[in-house]
Amino acid sequence: MIQPPFGKPWLLYVLLGSSLALNLVMVLDRPSSPEDAEVEDEAVAADAEAPAAEAVAAPAAPAIDPASLGEGWQVTAAPVDSNLARTFQLAAGEQGDALAAAYARLFVWELDLRRDLQKGDSVEVIWRPHPTAVVEVLAARFHSRKLGKTLEAWRWQPPGQAFATYWDETGRGVERRLVGGPIQHYEQITALLKDRPKHKGMDFKAPVGAEVLAPAHATVTRTNWNWAANGNCVELQFDDGHIAKLLHLSENKVEAGQRVTAGQVIALSGNTGRSTAPHLHYELHKGEQVVDPLDYHDLEQQQLTGATLEAFLAERARMAATLDQAVAAI
Ligand SMILES: [Zn+2]
Repeated sequence: MIQPPFGKPWLLYVLLGSSLALNLVMVLDRPSSPEDAEVEDEAVAADAEAPAAEAVAAPAAPAIDPASLGEGWQVTAAPVDSNLARTFQLAAGEQGDALAAAYARLFVWELDLRRDLQKGDSVEVIWRPHPTAVVEVLAARFHSRKLGKTLEAWRWQPPGQAFATYWDETGRGVERRLVGGPIQHYEQITALLKDRPKHKGMDFKAPVGAEVLAPAHATVTRTNWNWAANGNCVELQFDDGHIAKLLHLSENKVEAGQRVTAGQVIALSGNTGRSTAPHLHYELHKGEQVVDPLDYHDLEQQQLTGATLEAFLAERARMAATLDQAVAAI
């Protein structure tokens, strides 16, 4: 529930309904690392790396007032020593690995939490178990000594938007988006090229039927090869020579030999082939090299504005107060 700043929810919704513009702010941000392997692999990114030297245990967190945030949410807060997975295993029990992976995913744009942890860092998260093996995270803060600041990620669904996504304390989208990328309507990037050696692309969690766009002027070189693994799929040769593969589609709209223009709808996303949940797999090659889409594309972040930003900031203040209160009680 949003606590509207004016005390009249209907007024807030009327205002929000009339000003839903989401502006985009460009940022440049170029992590990387090409990998080489063959087939799509949907394993969840594991986060455990070196064994924990001295992860500090925090007691299991008390559940916070369910009336305040909804059923099942709990708060975990703990100091970090070296290893994120171990920290969450100690603080959150058997869900610790899944929670660590979900938490690291939120902040991967700023830090690699497998390597960038320092003594004195600490984690705070509002989360709950999810029936399909993945935890849900409502809010997360990371106090980073390396960065000298606290990173924040608050889940919130702007009115009129299809998905709840994560926003920082200024109403800026946490997750980077590919400028000219192959999909606009998706919930979250669930795998990056650098996550797993055998996985050669990026995954976008998206409902079946989301439009898939040509990232560049290109020629369709083949479709639906190696169906058992790739499902319905399209391969493009961009005019600059890069090869793009778009896998697990529900429907192809192009044929081999066809010319397509940048932004043209070439397929609908799906869950075909070796895929365990609806998503789009996007893979880029240049010659023998696998190319990271994060290097090929410019990146941008969404920015909430106007009444939408006001509504977010009010909700963020409420969640932050709840988190502060719960952390203080641990
Ligand atoms: Zn994939």
